[in-house]
Amino acid sequence: MPMPSAVDLAAHPLTSWQGPLGLPDFTCIGDGDFSGVFDAALTAHEAEIETIAGNAETPTIENTLAALELGGEALDHVSSIFWCRAGAHTNEAIQALERDISPKMSRHFSAISMNERLFARIDDLYQRRDALKLDSEALRVLEKTWKNFVRSGAKLDAEGKKRLAAINEELSSLGTTFGQNLLADERDWALFLDAADLAGLPEFLKSAMAEAAEMRGQKGRYAVTLSRSIYEPFSTFSERRDLREIAFRAFTMRGQNGGATDNTAVVRDMLRLRAEKAKLLGYASYAALKLDDTMAKTPEAVHKLLDPVWEKALEKAASDQIELRRLAAEAGSNEEFAAWDWRFYQEKLRAEKFAFDEAELKPYLQLDRIIDACFEVATKLFGISFEEKQGIATWHQDTRVFVVKNTDGSERGLFLADYFARPSKRSGAWMSALKSGYKLGDGSKPVIYNIMNFAKPPEGEAALLSVDEAKTLFHEFGHALHGMLTEVTWPSVAGTSVSRDFVELPSQLYEHWLTVPAVLEKHALHVTTGKPMPKALVDKMLAARTFGAGFATVEFTASALVDMAYHARPEAPEQPLRFEAETLEKLNMPRTIAMRHRTPHFGHIFAGDGYSAGYYSYMWSEVLDADAFAAFEETGDPFNPALAERLRKNIYAAGGSKDPEELYTAFRGKMPSPEAMMAKRGLM
Ligand SMILES: [Zn+2]
Repeated sequence: MPMPSAVDLAAHPLTSWQGPLGLPDFTCIGDGDFSGVFDAALTAHEAEIETIAGNAETPTIENTLAALELGGEALDHVSSIFWCRAGAHTNEAIQALERDISPKMSRHFSAISMNERLFARIDDLYQRRDALKLDSEALRVLEKTWKNFVRSGAKLDAEGKKRLAAINEELSSLGTTFGQNLLADERDWALFLDAADLAGLPEFLKSAMAEAAEMRGQKGRYAVTLSRSIYEPFSTFSERRDLREIAFRAFTMRGQNGGATDNTAVVRDMLRLRAEKAKLLGYASYAALKLDDTMAKTPEAVHKLLDPVWEKALEKAASDQIELRRLAAEAGSNEEFAAWDWRFYQEKLRAEKFAFDEAELKPYLQLDRIIDACFEVATKLFGISFEEKQGIATWHQDTRVFVVKNTDGSERGLFLADYFARPSKRSGAWMSALKSGYKLGDGSKPVIYNIMNFAKPPEGEAALLSVDEAKTLFHEFGHALHGMLTEVTWPSVAGTSVSRDFVELPSQLYEHWLTVPAVLEKHALHVTTGKPMPKALVDKMLAARTFGAGFATVEFTASALVDMAYHARPEAPEQPLRFEAETLEKLNMPRTIAMRHRTPHFGHIFAGDGYSAGYYSYMWSEVLDADAFAAFEETGDPFNPALAERLRKNIYAAGGSKDPEELYTAFRGKMPSPEAMMAKRGLM
């Protein structure tokens, strides 16, 4: 009997991708479609799991492990489109669905990882793994799968399993609430200014603020918003100390404003549940659980990296602050030096020391040229090329679509990029996949996308980037390359499916090529004259790279240390915000520097589970990237072909097919130490 309301997954545009270039046909997708398709896709995946678990034949790699990896395709498809929309182009309908779908997905995957018959088959293969004569990648996938089942509670008794499922579901809902509260606080706050209030602000910022005000219905005025691409330059350039203070307070209080969007209780509950989960699974702390399958492996190893960096950063920040106070005094300020003064005087000090300011660089960093630079570096290093396709519908009309081609012209996959900020997009920059690339079964070509939040220029003008924004573009494109260059067989270890403290290596390493002289000469061209950035300006920009390292390292490392402090203890703190304050006190955190992400808006660790007990990973990866780029510098050729090939093969193409330590050593011949990173930051 056909069900009258059933969705036909084989024909629906969310699950059967029949649009141009094999993309979903976005013109046929309505917000109202998601709910029914999700339900149908969940049911279909449940049936697939039941078939695998209930198979009467002896478990084999094909009928169990491969079937498990290839199952749930419809669910993957609808999920990838939905989460793309939820991050890049959301609305109230999508947000309501998110609250409904998050716990459903969590329940679904909990049920799979606690399916006893399924685990029995995986366990059977695992116990016989030596006799199965598997290649190293398949063996690793089997071991990881087995371990994931165990870490997900496969060995718990019925009571324990029930509790774990409840915890996971609640954590998932809380993570969604955290992110939505934060978005609401960021969206609802704006400081509207008039022309008289703009002293010190460069043109690019004025026009971004004018655009932001117009978007919020105040045409003719200027808005300071809590988007980093407006907040940071505003606090860097505004001569108005009173306005800098207002903006600083709003930015650092996101998620902590009382009322319905306050994240304090959300955080408290999440920490409590995470501690309980770790205990249930037999780990000393949530950090111990999360670090178990990383490159660092233990909280102690993380501290071995962070603690010496913290000491050096404090020293550097303290000596920088003396200079900043001097500048403030010279400028006639007799106020006590405060956190909202740091960026402002640091910029003045930069101008004094290096005789240029950020705004001088900006006309040379045109978005379109920097995109070209990203593509060209990839061509030089890895042989792939990019061809833009016009008129392809995606989730938003600003998104650009590129076909990625191999050296022989064959199609490798697709790259989609959505560069501009808008109120429907969450803040930050990220890479994700509509589809990952792998060889198992019929295989799959990667469809990778990048989301940015650059201020959109007025119609007809070129978008200009700050140096940091240009770096972000290279960074996310490095992640995209990790997804696009993948050569692995098994989906669960494809592309960026590597441990968290390894995943930032391909992205952070790629940033180094932005400032390679040949790349700047060709692509850093002035927006009106078309002339390359003058050599003197390039030299100053390069010399200035380590400038402000004290501030940057303190604000980052403070966040990483607080993350570790929350999660490396057996019991959760009763009052997280007090705990945050006490932890910073113990660390001797300077009062004039704020954490890069304070607890109530620390999305990396609370809007989901992505970087909990893992914010350190960025710095861990930085140790790797500094050392990896040094390998190119040692050869005297930033595009050294033999080295580039080793890099492609062992890092960008290898995904998680081997232990990260093994992959890195295969590329570099040895493991790195933190010295190259500290030197790169100018802390040594
Ligand atoms: Zn990244």
